[in-house]
Amino acid sequence: QAKQRGRNTFLFYLPQMNDQAVQRLRLEAQLRNALERGEFLLHYQPKVNVATGEISGFEALLRWLHPERGMVPPLEFISILEDTGLIVPVGEWVLRTVCRQLAAWKAQGLVPRPVAINLSARQFQERGLDEVVRAIVAEEGGDPALLEFELTESMLMADADAATRTLAALKAYGVRLSVDDFGTGYSSLSYLKRFPLDALKIDRSFMRDVTTDSNDASIALAIIRLAHSLRLDVVAEGVETADQLQFLRSHDCDQMQGFFFSRPLPVADCTRALREGRRLAGQPG
Ligand code: C2E
Ligand code: MG
Ligand code: MG
Ligand code: MG
Repeated sequence: QAKQRGRNTFLFYLPQMNDQAVQRLRLEAQLRNALERGEFLLHYQPKVNVATGEISGFEALLRWLHPERGMVPPLEFISILEDTGLIVPVGEWVLRTVCRQLAAWKAQGLVPRPVAINLSARQFQERGLDEVVRAIVAEEGGDPALLEFELTESMLMADADAATRTLAALKAYGVRLSVDDFGTGYSSLSYLKRFPLDALKIDRSFMRDVTTDSNDASIALAIIRLAHSLRLDVVAEGVETADQLQFLRSHDCDQMQGFFFSRPLPVADCTRALREGRRLAGQPG
């Protein structure tokens, strides 16, 4: 009886939640067609070498251009892609699109910079990820050395044996591997010696108050030292001010990413930045 009534009760007592559920179902249905309709695109956020001020690479960030709503932020749709498994074909599209973009920049005579791609847990758990990556990069005539995959701590911890195999295979192929949002996951630090990683990205929650909160400063500094003593590169995320940049400079952080230098940009703006050799102001040389 309660079960029979359940649906109506739910509708009656939780109208807001129901709206959310309906909205989610609507988005899900639209996402199922978004790939074939060509509604996805990538923006690229420059990463900057802190010491030289030059663009050292990019991070590819997925955007959905919804026919009525315009640009939908990833927070609103990535989890739906993950829950439905759609992230697997969409993730393959991201990799292919990045390979094509690298080829286009090369064809325009621009010095190629590595591009980082975010992997979702779902993709990472998929069997044969490394083979899919090899196949796509080979089909597109891409160079694995110009690709980097960003993973999160929870992905690495979830199934450490499977992660070890997948990461070893990707590493052997020649792609770079980094840990995204470092410091926010379950940090059993032992995984740092177990996996063939190249870089740690300091989560932007530590950057926000790094110049005013001594705890955040201590954590950021500890991550920089930890990375360097493990011979890993370290990238600060979410750098929005000159003071934050100064902190990173004085503590030898390798790379930075954030609105202070640039928001994620449409391709044309990245191409222009590369062509003009855009760099951080106030750098020596
Ligand atoms: P993330 O990988 O940690 O990406 C960094 C996010 O921080 C981006 O948000 C970027 O726009 C934002 N950001 C960069 N600099 C600053 C800054 O100075 N201040 C502030 N407040 N924010 C900054 P975005 O593009 O909304 O992406 C959110 C998340 O969605 C990403 O976090 C990533 O986890 C996920 N995502 C994006 N693209 C993909 C994709 O192609 N595949 C998968 N699996 N996940 C993706
Ligand atoms: Mg990322
Ligand atoms: Mg990040
Ligand atoms: Mg983050």
